[in-house]
Amino acid sequence: MSDGAQRSLHDLGFSELVEVLGRDGVILHHAKVLWRTLQGEGELDLAGRDFLPPLKRWVAESVGEGKAFFLDAPEVVDEIRSSDGLTRKFLLRLRDGQVIETVLMGYQGRHTVCVSTQAGCAMGCVFCATGQMGFVRHLRSGEIVAQVLHARRILNGIDPEKRLRNMVLMGMGEPLHNYEAVMSALDSISNRRGIGIGPTKISISTVGVVPGILRLAEEGRPYCLAVSLHGATEDERSALVPASKRWPLTMLIAACRKYGEITGRRIFFEWTLIAGKNDSPETAKRLVELLRGIDGHVNLIPLNPTRGFSGTASGAGLEFQKILIAGGFPCTFRQRRGIDVAAGCGMLKAEKRMRTA
Ligand code: SAH
Ligand code: SF4
Repeated sequence: MSDGAQRSLHDLGFSELVEVLGRDGVILHHAKVLWRTLQGEGELDLAGRDFLPPLKRWVAESVGEGKAFFLDAPEVVDEIRSSDGLTRKFLLRLRDGQVIETVLMGYQGRHTVCVSTQAGCAMGCVFCATGQMGFVRHLRSGEIVAQVLHARRILNGIDPEKRLRNMVLMGMGEPLHNYEAVMSALDSISNRRGIGIGPTKISISTVGVVPGILRLAEEGRPYCLAVSLHGATEDERSALVPASKRWPLTMLIAACRKYGEITGRRIFFEWTLIAGKNDSPETAKRLVELLRGIDGHVNLIPLNPTRGFSGTASGAGLEFQKILIAGGFPCTFRQRRGIDVAAGCGMLKAEKRMRTA
């Protein structure tokens, strides 16, 4: 790695920060102050802060170019706002030049940040712009934390009274393919003395990485789970989601049942409606059978058109929803609000590449 032995201070959880400072003889009180400054306030200019001498000295000796620690402060390369002004999508450049997407959404007074967990994605879903880029690398925990800090800074600039209370892991990448870094980031982000987003307000969206789903349940992680399903038979799903060959639909549904039994929590099923691929009334009926007995909620979202695929029209989407509800399944049909320019995951980056090519 280009940073050599350097580490990001944003990679450290609270207890690690206490340990690191403790090793240099700096007591717990100062570690708490540093944590609040870094994570609670999102400060990036530590040298400019008026800390007490032991912490001021530690910062001067340990943080900066050529020193033990750096800060994750991604640079904004581009920003796109939706026409209603409620969605702002940022292209952020990381230290090694990789570019990722972070989205801040605000509807009905609720503010949500959508973060990326990888540069690119290895799962190759055929309708997803990120999937079509391929996998580049996992993000570190600090790079995930830094996206939330960025979104909060922006929100604060719009209105200091507003709080960032919700988070979804629905940007670029597959969160359960980068399990350790994602869990470490979520521990930090949900820490009440730091950013403090409540764990039940954090949704992890997965393409269906079965071992990850089971691990979430076994470790008792308190976050919400969303599973991107998109197909009700093995053939239908595999044609859209190649990862289904590795973790087949029957195995995935069994894991969801187990997750429900262990956690007692409702699972959200994401269903991207793609014209002519997975939006027929027959598919809706098969989906009702597939999910029978699971405490779940289905979110239907028309596809943001990508090369060769288009989204389902409203009429057919509402019909699909009606069948699920009649089958006893809570189901929301989300018209894509304000996502006109912000587009789906990975699409801004793909578009930018075309603009600059
Ligand atoms: N890898 C995870 C999380 C990131 S993708 C996952 O697949 O769940 C987040 C969501 O965006 C997924 O439900 C995915 O199917 C959806 N998505 C990807 N491309 C899309 C597009 N062009 N239009 C609508 N939704 C899309
Ligand atoms: Fe990866 Fe999710 Fe896109 Fe599939 S939909 S390629 S899992 S980011």
